[in-house]
This record gives sequence, C-alpha cells and structure tokens, in this order.
Amino acid sequence: MANHKVVCWDCGCDVDDPFVNTCPKCGGLLTVKMDLEPVKEMRPEDLRKEPIGVWRYAPFLPVDYDKRVSIKEGGTPLYRTDALAAECGIGELHVKYEGANPTGSFKDRGMTIGVSHAVELGAKVVGCASTGNTSASLAAYASKAGIRCAVFLPSGKVAAGKLAQAMFFGAKVISVDGNFDDALRLAREMAEERSLYLLNSINPYRPEGQKSVLFEIMDQLAYDVPDRIILPVGNAANIWAVYKAVKELEEVGWIDKIPMLTGIQAEGAAPVARAFKDKDKDFVPEEHPETVATAIRIGNPVSGRKALHAIYDTGGYSTTVTDDEILAAQKMLGRREGVGVEPASAASVAGAKKLREMGIIDKDERVVCICTGNALKDPDTIIAHSDPVCQCPNDVAAVRKILLG
Ligand SMILES: *Cc1c(COP(=O)(O)O)cnc(C)c1O
Repeated sequence: MANHKVVCWDCGCDVDDPFVNTCPKCGGLLTVKMDLEPVKEMRPEDLRKEPIGVWRYAPFLPVDYDKRVSIKEGGTPLYRTDALAAECGIGELHVKYEGANPTGSFKDRGMTIGVSHAVELGAKVVGCASTGNTSASLAAYASKAGIRCAVFLPSGKVAAGKLAQAMFFGAKVISVDGNFDDALRLAREMAEERSLYLLNSINPYRPEGQKSVLFEIMDQLAYDVPDRIILPVGNAANIWAVYKAVKELEEVGWIDKIPMLTGIQAEGAAPVARAFKDKDKDFVPEEHPETVATAIRIGNPVSGRKALHAIYDTGGYSTTVTDDEILAAQKMLGRREGVGVEPASAASVAGAKKLREMGIIDKDERVVCICTGNALKDPDTIIAHSDPVCQCPNDVAAVRKILLG
C-alpha cells in the first residue's frame, strides 16, 4: 500500500495520472500528501539506526527505502558559526552546509526521491530545465539509475562547475537561447508530449526529498527548534519543502514550535520578496531577472505561491539583498568560518545580516541559514572578485620580497 497520494494544492482533488505536473481539473500546483499515521507511533530515536542523511527519514518519504536510487545524499554538516554571528550581531547562528552533498548542492536531496520515483514509473528518459545545479544533480542520479537524461540550460548563464558536471555525468546538454523560465517552458512541453519524465521541482516528489534538510537540522539541534530558518529563494521549492517538513513534524508531535521561515531573493530577481512587501498571496513574474547569484536568477518561480504561504503561515519574512551584499556575505563566510558557498547560498547569510540591521531579527534569536551550494560550483565569480594571484619568478629572493614586503 502506498504511504501517500498526490493531490492538488489549490483545489484539493486527488491526482492519479503520474505524468501530469499540474492539476487536470483546475491547473493548480500539485503536492504529496503523506500518510503519517505509522510515524505517530515512533520517536526520532527510532530512525537513528540509519546514518544521518535523506534516507534516515524514510517513513516521511513517498518512495520505498528498498527501491532507492541513492548516492548517499544529505547528512551535511550544521556549523555553529560564532564569528559570523558576532559579525551580524545575532545571538546564535548556524549554517547548514548543503555544499557537502554528493554533487555539491541540496538538489541531491530531491533527486534521490525524484529519480527513484521515475524508475518506479518505468521512465527511460528524465529531463529538467536548470540554472545549473538541478541538471548536475539529475545527470548524476540518472547515471546511477542507468537511464538517459536531457537538461535544458539558459545559454551562457550557467556557472562553469555546474555545466561541467552535467557534461561529465553524460547528460544531453541543450543550451536554450533564453533565460531559465524559457528553458523550463520547453522542458515542460517535452514532458507533456511524454518525450521525457520531468524532474523540475514542479514535480511534487522532489520537495519530498528536500524536506530532509529540515529533519536533519532538527536532529542536529536535538529537536530544540530554532527561532528562524533563512533560505535563498529562486524557484521557491526549497522553502516550501522546509515548510512541509515543519508541518509534518508538528503533525506527528515531534515539535511544538514553528520556526519563522524567511526567504531571501536577489534584488534583480525578487518576485516573492516584492509580493511579501505588498502583503500579496500571489506574485507578479519578472521578465528579465538578473543577479550574480545565477541559481536564483528566476523571474517566474513555479512554487512562488507555496513559498508565500510558507512565509505567512510561519510568521516569517522575505526581503531582497543586492549582488554586492551577496558577494560580501560569501566572502565573510569563507574568510571568517572557512566555509565555501556559491553566491546564491550566501544570499541567506546576507539576508540574516540585513534583517538584523533592520531589527526584524532580534539579537537573541537562534537562527539557521541554509547555504544551498558549494563554492566550487562557480569558480569564475570567486576569481573575478578576489585579490589577484601573485606572479612570481622562480627564485627564492623574489618569494621573500612578496611574502615579507
Ligand atoms: C536551486 C538552488 C537555489 C534555489 O532553490 P529553490 O528551491 O529554487 O528556491 C538556491 N541555491 C542554490 C545553490 C540552488 O542550487
């Protein structure tokens, strides 16, 4: 017996066709409804036989543990970052370092579920549109599953590390003349004619795996719920996934407090933050999203309405940060904590700093920033914004001059 069903988030009807990505009746967004009755008999300790990682939380997941396509995703460190906390003036600050996933971003959490489900359905070709990390992750999991993979990328706007990964894992890489939103439209059309099984986060199975980042944070904090969790928001599935995990833990009685979910966007790609500012439940898409944080360079976020619901329902917040603030936060995390993240990930830290300055974050708050991807994903941005290397003749006197002045 399946432990879940797919339902329409908007009209609530059951959706039985596994190949649709929107509600056949109302066109609404889909979501997975888990049957958590068996989990209500359990305690967090009961899951600890399995090492920390996505599959520790199998009773919360819509795929059988025995049918998993896994490369041991999740189980990422939660750093207590006291130097960063002092810099931001925040009481207690932690960084959940998603760059430590197998392909270097949190996307692996969703892909282990998405690709396992695709294999269950008998899919032979999987595909996605991507700003880079989704394609890197999907390509790796398709390899592990032994199925084919096609990825649609916005031309010229994908960070080098991510593009290299998709190519390396053997995906068919299609570079689209247009932005991410255009690439997604094409991928969705191919999925509608059943030429591929779509694994963008509009697929309701992916956020199910992404819930695990919240489960892990709770485990790592011994279920002492933080006041606030801050994430970068692009296509907006991750903040929705974290929200869903919070609600599920509340449903099974493992937590009795809800963290304020806080979504940060780049100033040049901020439909969700703008809607929040206007207290709207829906957002206005942006035609020309632009930011150095390419992973969140998205103007028409698929899960934008879900993200807004997550933010409002938890008493959270949303705001924007500039590219300069993002790059400064990225550098601060590297120089003060030895943690290397890509620009989009640093938006959460930049947001923490800004919201503290605005007085939205209280000085005594316990805050977790989710840092979504690894610094090595985007070496070009780092090199462009770092001090130049010291060119040196092959000679010890010259070295001495450089080092000692
Ligand atoms: C995908 C991604 C995001 C955005 O996540 P959404 O679920 O689309 O909001 C942020 N940072 C990185 C590094 C990503 O790969």
